[in-house]
Amino acid sequence: MSTPSIRRLDTSVVNRIAAGEVIHRPANALKELLENCLDAGASQIQITVKEGGLKFLQIQDNGHGIKKEDLAIVCERFTTSKLKQFDDLSRIVTYGFRGEALASISHVAHLTITTKTADSPCAYRAAYVDGQLSAPAGQNSDPKPCAGNNGTQITVEDLFYNMPTRKKALRSPSDEYNRIVDVVSRYAIHNHGVSFSCKKVGTMTGEVQTNTNTSTLDNIRQIYGTSVSSELLFCEAEAEALNYSMKAYISNANYSMKRTTLLLFINNRLVESDSIKRMVDTVYTSLLPKGGHPFVYLSLMIKPENIDVNVHPTKQKVHFLNEDHVVEAIQEEFLKILENANDSRTFYTQT
Ligand code: ADP
Ligand code: MG
Repeated sequence: MSTPSIRRLDTSVVNRIAAGEVIHRPANALKELLENCLDAGASQIQITVKEGGLKFLQIQDNGHGIKKEDLAIVCERFTTSKLKQFDDLSRIVTYGFRGEALASISHVAHLTITTKTADSPCAYRAAYVDGQLSAPAGQNSDPKPCAGNNGTQITVEDLFYNMPTRKKALRSPSDEYNRIVDVVSRYAIHNHGVSFSCKKVGTMTGEVQTNTNTSTLDNIRQIYGTSVSSELLFCEAEAEALNYSMKAYISNANYSMKRTTLLLFINNRLVESDSIKRMVDTVYTSLLPKGGHPFVYLSLMIKPENIDVNVHPTKQKVHFLNEDHVVEAIQEEFLKILENANDSRTFYTQT
């Protein structure tokens, strides 16, 4: 067999491959866009979806907007207003830091940005393909002035139009829509004080609708229903030695659902953690009837320098210092609250 020569891949190929690793499905794109709205200080976020986000996904915020002169590079890979040096990573408080999301989306979809900063007399609109400004043949691709409110609206159309295999694998728009609603629900619950809405194009009432003045518990009630929200116990703890603090709403021993619902935020990031999932299952196995599972919303804060958020392109998995000890401490808090609630219940029923 003759030896094949090694060639450098075209940047467009490299970028599309990388984009596919960050954006697996509409819900990943939405999560990135949502986090950008929150990073921009938005207090209102409205999401509109068509065909599970595969055809059309639009997100409008009232945040600080993007400067006109940044519009030319905003969708290039590794352009960001959030991180300057590697060291900043250990102090990063924004969701974003590596300037990959908009670039990635523009490599696998048609992306349009309409944005207005508070000090600009008008909004600007720009369209992007493969990280660059784009326009139909013969037209100028420069951002165009237009009417618009302060903030940013991002429209993503025809997701995976250039990745037919990926597109074919995502066969069910309703399943994709459910995943989007799930992401929005979780962010809405965690970010009380910000109003969220998520609906399908052409419908009046959305699947998610929260207001700026509703509490975490109100939002859980709005999204998951009273049957869950009325059975929740509040749990709060802080441990200096382990450098963590947490707040949680956990279902009591009288409540159970078919599958565990775990809304986990670590340093305000929606993440997954096998160790915390396992701990929750352990806590409730002895409490609930066989096949019953809890609802747990847990917001855990850890010293930023004790956590590595840069282990995965989707930032979904995180690891932190003293993970086992912290998880154990949380487990004890949960058990304490659950036992207390159980005791008072027994007490009440006896009197
Ligand atoms: P990152 O969030 O990691 O910086 P992104 O590709 O998600 O990278 O966004 C690139 C930049 O575009 C951000 O740093 C920010 O300056 C700007 N941006 C994106 N979305 C918004 C938004 N909704 N409002 C204001 N600025 C935004
Ligand atoms: Mg971002």
